[in-house]
Formats: sequence, C-alpha cells, structure tokens
Amino acid sequence: MSAGNEKQKILIVDDSEMNRSILADMLGDEYEIVEAVDGAEAVARLNMDSTDISLMLLDIVMPNMDGFEVLAVMNRRNWIQDIPVIMISAENTTSYVEHAYELGVTDFISRPFDGQIVHRRVINTIMLYAKQKRLIELVSDQIYEKERSNNLMVSILSHIVEFRNGESGLHVLHINMMTEILLQTVMRKTDKYNLKRSDIPIISMASALHDIGKISIPGEILNKPGKLTKEEFETMKTHTLIGAEMLDQLSYYKDESLVKTAYQICRWHHERYDGRGYPDGLVGEEIPIAAQIVALADVYDALTSVRVYKPAFSHEKAIEMITNGECGTFNPLLLDCLLESGESIREQLAINSIKQESDRNIRNITEDLLHYEDLSASERTLRLLEHERTKYQFFASLSSEIQFEYTKEPSMLTLSDAGAKMLNAAEITMNPLEDEKIATISNGEVLEEIRQLVMMSTTESPVIQYDGEILINGEWRWSRVICRSMWAYEEKPYMTGCIGKIVDMHEQHAKIKDLQRMASHDGLTGLLNQSASKRLVRERLHEGEGKDFILAIFDIDYFKNANDRCGHMFGDKVLQHMADKLRSSTRDYDITARVGGDEFMIFMEDRAGIDSIIDRIYHALSGKYEGFDISISMGISRSKKVGREYENLFGCADKALYTAKQAGRAQYCFYDDSMKEILSAISSIDGEE
Ligand code: GH3
Ligand code: MG
Repeated sequence: MSAGNEKQKILIVDDSEMNRSILADMLGDEYEIVEAVDGAEAVARLNMDSTDISLMLLDIVMPNMDGFEVLAVMNRRNWIQDIPVIMISAENTTSYVEHAYELGVTDFISRPFDGQIVHRRVINTIMLYAKQKRLIELVSDQIYEKERSNNLMVSILSHIVEFRNGESGLHVLHINMMTEILLQTVMRKTDKYNLKRSDIPIISMASALHDIGKISIPGEILNKPGKLTKEEFETMKTHTLIGAEMLDQLSYYKDESLVKTAYQICRWHHERYDGRGYPDGLVGEEIPIAAQIVALADVYDALTSVRVYKPAFSHEKAIEMITNGECGTFNPLLLDCLLESGESIREQLAINSIKQESDRNIRNITEDLLHYEDLSASERTLRLLEHERTKYQFFASLSSEIQFEYTKEPSMLTLSDAGAKMLNAAEITMNPLEDEKIATISNGEVLEEIRQLVMMSTTESPVIQYDGEILINGEWRWSRVICRSMWAYEEKPYMTGCIGKIVDMHEQHAKIKDLQRMASHDGLTGLLNQSASKRLVRERLHEGEGKDFILAIFDIDYFKNANDRCGHMFGDKVLQHMADKLRSSTRDYDITARVGGDEFMIFMEDRAGIDSIIDRIYHALSGKYEGFDISISMGISRSKKVGREYENLFGCADKALYTAKQAGRAQYCFYDDSMKEILSAISSIDGEE
C-alpha cells in the first residue's frame, strides 16, 4: 500500500515526446509521472518494479516494441492483473480496439483526445483498481504471516537437500517458478484436474520438497561424477519412497494439503506417463497431476543447468529434447502447455540468473527517465502545441499532397494519408533509407542526393529543394521535393530529422521544356535561332580550348524573287528545304542556325580537309528546288586567322559574305585581311547577350 502522501505513479508509454509531455502536464499535479519512450523501455521499467505503477497509458504504434507486444509481455508476466492499462491511439479501427481489449486493456481512448475525458477516465480507473487492491491486500495480509513462515521452512529444508546434492541454489527456485507457470497454463486449458487457484501456491511450494528423500542417499552415490552401477541406481531410486515416507510419518500434519501434495510429488515425480517409471510404475492419469508437472519441470531444469555429467542446454534445445521424447514420456497435454508457456518460462527463469545485468540496465534507464522529467514544458505551451498539431493533421488529411516527416532517432519516415497512397508505401516506415519499398519510389540517386542536401542544410538555411523523377500512382512524374531540416538545441544544435512535401511538377515541367525549346529554335525551320546559336558557339569555343573552328554565314541569292514570283508560302518551303539540306550535309555536332530571314550559319571545327568540306556543303545547298534555282553566297572566317571571339568570327564571316555578294553571288569566300575595311551592313547580328 502506498504510504502517506506519496503520489501514485502513472507510466506513460509513447514514442512521441510531445504526447508524453501533454499527458504528463495534464496529470502531473495529482500523480507522479514515469515516462518510457517505447515498449522495450516500458517493459524494462516494469521489470525493475511493477508494483509501484498505478496505471499505464499506452500508445500502440511505437518503434522497438509496440503497444500490443507490451500487452503480450504484461500478460505473460501476469502484470496485467495488477496494472490497469488505458490505450491511447489514433488508430481506432474496430479490430485494433477489440485486440486491445482481448489483451486486457481497461479502456481505449482515441486520439485526438479531450483532456477532460482522459483526466476523468484515469482517475476512475485508478480508483477502481485501488479499491480492488485494498480488498486483496486486506485478505492477503492475514495469510501473509502464515505463508511467510511456511515458505521460510520449506526453503531451509530444500536448501539442505540441494546442498547435499551439490546442486545450484537455483534448482528449487526454478522448479517452483516453472511449476507455477505450467499450472496456470493447465488451468487455462482444461478443468479436468479440478484445480483451483488456491492449489497453485500449495503445489508450487510442495514442489520444493520433491527431492527431500535424497537426505538418506549416501553422498558417494549422490555426487558420483560417472555413471551409476545397477545397484547404485537402485539405491538412488529409493529417494522417492523415502521422501514420501518421511512426510507420511508427520502424523500431526499428515492431513494438511501441503503435506499431501508433497507426498504425491516426492513419491511419483519419477513415474512416466507410459508406465515405465518408478517406484510404482503408474500409468497415465494414475500419476497425480502435481507429480506430473514437477517431473516435467525437473527434467527441463536439469537439461538447462550444468551438471557434473553434462553441459547446460539452451531453452530451445531442452524443449526440443523433451518434445522429441528423448527424456521420457509425458502427458501430451502437459507438452502442449510447455510449448505454449515456453516464452514465459525462458524469461522468468532467465531473470534470476541475469539479475546483475538487468540491475545495470535499470540504472541507465532510471537516469534517462530523470533526464526527461526535467524537460516538461508548461501546460499552456503544450496545449498550444497540441492545438497546432491537430490543425496540421486536419489540413494534412484534407490535402492530397504527399507530406512527409523523417526522424533520425528512431529512424522513421511518416507519410500523410494521401502521400502513402500515392507513393504506394506504408504510412510509417522504420529505417526508410534501407527500406526496399521506399527505394522503389525513386531511383537510388534521387534519395541519396536529397539525403545529402538535407545533411548539408544548416539552421540558418534549413530549406532545400530537389527536382527529380518520383513514382507517383505508378507513374514516373517529374517532381519537386521541398524539405526543411528540423533541429534540436542543446549545447550545439543537432539535426533531428526533416519535414517536407513532394509536389508533382510533371505538367509544368513539360510546359517549361516546350517553352525552352521554343525560345531557342526557329519555328519555321526547326533550326536554332540567332541568340541560342550564339550561346552555344560561345560555349563550344570556351570548352574547345586549343582547337580551331570555322564560322560560315550564307544567304540565299535573290530570295525575294521566290517570294515575289511564287508567293510567300513557297518562300517558306524554300527556307525549310534549305534547313533540311543544311542538316543533312553537316554533322550533328556542328552547330547550324537560321540567323536571319534567308541567312544561315554553320559553326564547326576547323578539321583536316576543311576546304573540301566547305565546298561539299556549298554545293549541297545549291541546286534546283521545285523549278526555282537556288544559289547561295557564303562567307567563312577561321579562328586561326581572326581569333576565338564570337563577335569577330561572326563579323568577319559577314564581311566575307558581303564580298561574295559583291563579286557576283553564287560563290563562297574566306575572310582575309583585305576585307578589313568593309563596313558590315547586311547582316543582322543582334547585339544582345
Ligand atoms: P540577295 O541576293 O541580295 O540576298 O537578295 P535577296 O532577294 O535574297 O534579298 P535579301 O536577302 O536582302 O532579302 C531576304 C528576303 O527574304 C526578304 C524577305 O522578304 C524574305 N524573307 C525573310 N524572312 C522570310 C520568311 O520567313 N519567309 C519568306 N517566305 N520570306 C522571308
Ligand atoms: Mg538573300
């Protein structure tokens, strides 16, 4: 019973620090709050002490160990009978709620919750349990004294036996615990043995006496390291009858149920279900259930302990050997019980041998818990935060956006409802960077690049943006990932994760691409336009340092005639024809463009045989087109001669073109210094960058 003014303790188990703080603030005035960040920590806390917790508030979805697993452990260790659990979760589908009740929760509150209601239900639950506990304590206080002295006597007695047997002090304790667990399982499964709750402590206490008959077996036989001879074994076997007789001779207490049960256990714990045991060769259910259970516990503990003649087997190995029938024949029902309660047995028996280790863990956890308690914010701030959170969640649920949140510790990705559907991923993914499902959302580089951008972000500029292809609704869509890194501030700020959203930009992206294309190309011929070609030529000159280039400009002779005689439409067709010819007579890597009305440009490397290349192109561009004689005039400048400046190359080519026109058209002409004085007039180099 809690003493004086000491506050009752509530254990809050939730991975979200915000959730814990909100609940802690709400209940902290009346109760002492203990927090656990996940299921594993909650179980560790209960392991340390499960008796001082008056109520547990439990979240479902948590890393390491979720709420349901915590409940499973609480059931196995029988904590659930003593600690009422209220589950608080945003997940409130019927199956979840039902499962929670099946596992023994007292109440289920769905999130977002009303503070008043939580407060009321917590108080009610604690009061109800406290009443029940008081009643139980009242009764048990009365029998406690009696039981305590009984226990004490039994353990002294069994210790003497163990001491003589050279067994570890744990053997009796283990048999005791295991008998209790097996009995509980048998009672759950069947009522054919007419077992009552009150039989459990009697049988498990009596189990401690199973080997008292060994008191009268000579020490040399008891502790003989090698195999016993036939006679020695016969002597050994008598410990069953001797033990039984010792109890039988307790004339005064003979009718006590403890003594009666101990008699059965002493005498028949070496009987076998198939009738091949000793001393009486009882078969099947002729063997009292208490003796059957202790026999099984005895074998299990012998297998899992070191003995002079064998090493310790693992829990799994022991279970396997027993169920295989390698260690005798047992009641099939008991074998079922053993399998069913295997996990409990392993945990409970292990607890006692690793006590030191768990003590150390508990110290660490306690330190962590103390640390957390310092951080609780004011109630008002938390209410505001919860308000913001509800608002955010509400808007997130309405929007059809892909929103995400990533936390580093634990490494967890949470997607908005719509986001999870659109990306065909789970709403919560642990270790997303190693997750196969998440990997399929984008190609690996996208994810890695985003990760690196986030890692490089700072508290001053926490927002990053990345464009790339993402698989949305099964389709690769050009998307923009906008992301903000989140920080916690201690001595130095450290990154705790990020939040963000993915915006589908596919349509806009396609439009922009089209616009970009339109801006750099001539609509009629599909060739690059003047300004785009200028940019490209400059780039090429810059990249190709050490290389030489030529730039040629040509203009159709008397093109106006084509327009005038055959119409503007025909003129257009001639221009398209020229563009086709130009494309087919140059290489892809050369730069070709329409730089004015009937004026075109070619830029290429000044490679070996450039003269014949020019000549070939010149002739390819001349000739008949649908009855119209096409001739061109072309001027060419070489970077070898005029330098690598675009303006120079273009201006000199233009002067050479002018010279060709002046010389009577239908010819090409390389720039030379004699043309220096020509005032370039014809062409239209637009001066803008
Ligand atoms: P020259 O031998 O001196 O080059 O004489 P030309 O008749 O070809 O005259 P010039 O090159 O100065 O004039 C080009 C003409 O091209 C002027 C314009 O009417 C015509 N033109 C310009 N752009 C287009 C176009 O997009 N379509 C058509 N059909 N004609 C165009
Ligand atoms: Mg012309």
